[in-house]
Amino acid sequence: MARHISNAIYRSAADMDTDVLIVGAGPTGLMLANQLGRRGIRAMIVDRHSGPAQQTRAMAVHARTLEIYSKLGIAERALALGKQGNAANMWAEGKRRARIPIGDIGKSLSPFPFVLMLGQDDNERIMGERLRDWGMAVQWNTELVSFEQASDRVTATLKQPDGVTRKLIAAHIAGCDGGHSTVRERSGITFPGAPYEHVFFVADTEATGSMVPDELNVYLLRDGFHLFFPMRGTDRWRVIGILPKHLRERDDLTFEEAVPEIRHEAGAALSFTRCSWFSTYRIHHRCAERFREGRCFLLGDAAHVHSPMGGQGMNTGLQDAYNLAWKLALVISGKADADVLDTYEAERIPVAHRLLRTTDRAFTLVVSDSWVAGTLRTRIVARIAAFAMTLSRVRRIAFRTISQIGISYRESPLSKMLPGLPGGAPRAGDRFPWLRLRFQANGPIEDLFQKLDDTRYNLIIIGQLAPSEEVSGLGDLLSAHVIPDDAHNARELARVRIHGQAFYLLRPDGHVGLAGTRLELGALTRYLSESGIRIQGNKDEPARNR
Ligand SMILES: Cc1cc2nc3c(=O)[nH]c(=O)nc-3n(C[C@H](O)[C@H](O)[C@H](O)COP(=O)(O)OP(=O)(O)OC[C@H]3O[C@@H](n4cnc5c(N)ncnc54)[C@H](O)[C@@H]3O)c2cc1C
Repeated sequence: MARHISNAIYRSAADMDTDVLIVGAGPTGLMLANQLGRRGIRAMIVDRHSGPAQQTRAMAVHARTLEIYSKLGIAERALALGKQGNAANMWAEGKRRARIPIGDIGKSLSPFPFVLMLGQDDNERIMGERLRDWGMAVQWNTELVSFEQASDRVTATLKQPDGVTRKLIAAHIAGCDGGHSTVRERSGITFPGAPYEHVFFVADTEATGSMVPDELNVYLLRDGFHLFFPMRGTDRWRVIGILPKHLRERDDLTFEEAVPEIRHEAGAALSFTRCSWFSTYRIHHRCAERFREGRCFLLGDAAHVHSPMGGQGMNTGLQDAYNLAWKLALVISGKADADVLDTYEAERIPVAHRLLRTTDRAFTLVVSDSWVAGTLRTRIVARIAAFAMTLSRVRRIAFRTISQIGISYRESPLSKMLPGLPGGAPRAGDRFPWLRLRFQANGPIEDLFQKLDDTRYNLIIIGQLAPSEEVSGLGDLLSAHVIPDDAHNARELARVRIHGQAFYLLRPDGHVGLAGTRLELGALTRYLSESGIRIQGNKDEPARNR
């Protein structure tokens, strides 16, 4: 089957039951459904489970996710339900070796300069509730059994709550159905990689002990680590660790049996009064060979799984969805050519590969059984980490990496730099930096991210006038923001190395598409049309793609 579908075929599609069938209502599927729903795209989201997950699973919500939540109108609710991580305490051999403040580690880099501790179940609940605002709801107890693709449609077989199967015709299918993805398997996309030999445990507990309340506590062991994440409520901790070798093969292991191991390292004072969830799981590091096959897309754990080092799993799936949603919305609504959809894979596969490499390296370091690694972990790592994090450059790099604000698509076909911008200024492909600017002479200082409309392209014009009439000719595709000359603005822009004349065309997801110095309408329209965007006024274009 041809991977790349021509526009002609897209146009010829007959009526569908839905434009996008989303398989899986975990965080990734819920984010995709929300992003399509708010852009007015018909999508259907199904899940084989009977209702939302009750398990906390992922705990860390990073800054880039909160930025996206803010656009979706759910950041406030997430902040109210979660706990901000203020510091990480590093323990080894019964002693606290270091306390690393992380409360505002990303100050000036993001409106959310911290990591939020909020269970995956709460994240799913918030996103699930938001779906109602677009007139959508998850269809539970509905399982994708199989699907077939033709050039103009996908025909899916769904097993409904009453056990009866039915056919559903969709223009696209999005596999957000986790590590054992049926969508991936049915597409014939391989999932190369391997399992780690280690077995993780997770436990949601009530406990007292040496842990510093409300802060992350990391117990570094000779043969691994235990993490205590503060959860909402008093004395509530999520504990994560690696099972010692002699317990690895036990399928029926209980929390009570794991406790002596945890107490051994975290100290005799540690006392658990309750455990509401305990699970062990073997992790894999795998990445799908492709993220797209014709009208089928893979996102989240269906596309990549890796060790939970750095709490990246859920956050990466959410960003896969944010990357794909605006492209699907433009294509389905007839505002972009189908080729734009190829850039989803081109942009997100390198992110997944990098993530697998870095989490693998970090994981190997923290679990290595060698004497040297054990000594490094218990004697040296905490001190080096504490010292390094006093250096602002290291703090910035650490935050940019872990928070995912540093993800860039510089090699993407959608990224184009025009000459003239100084080195160090934001580049095409980068997430445009968070700035606080005056948008009117003598006006208030406002948050740029609040001003950006993520359902359109945003044009930021600096040190020059807007070719307003012509730019507004780009219709509802684009919002223009002229940044007036002003001492505050000059200082804020200089902070991110923007000096003098510049313009930045941001894609709906906030990444720079085109960047240059002097704004010329021709360069703008050329970039858009080379990117497959259909510019208003071309009467020959169809109103809607499928
Ligand atoms: C025990 C545990 C602890 C974890 N801890 C962390 C952590 O601390 N930090 C971190 O970042 N990540 C963690 N993870 C990983 C994190 O939970 C995943 O990265 C995240 O759930 C991925 O979201 P997803 O929506 O892509 O897939 P999932 O959450 O797996 O959702 C997939 C959904 O698809 C549905 N589905 C599957 N097949 C079908 C079908 N054929 N038809 C219909 N529906 C289907 C499933 O029912 C499920 O609801 C943990 C995972 C586990 C298991």
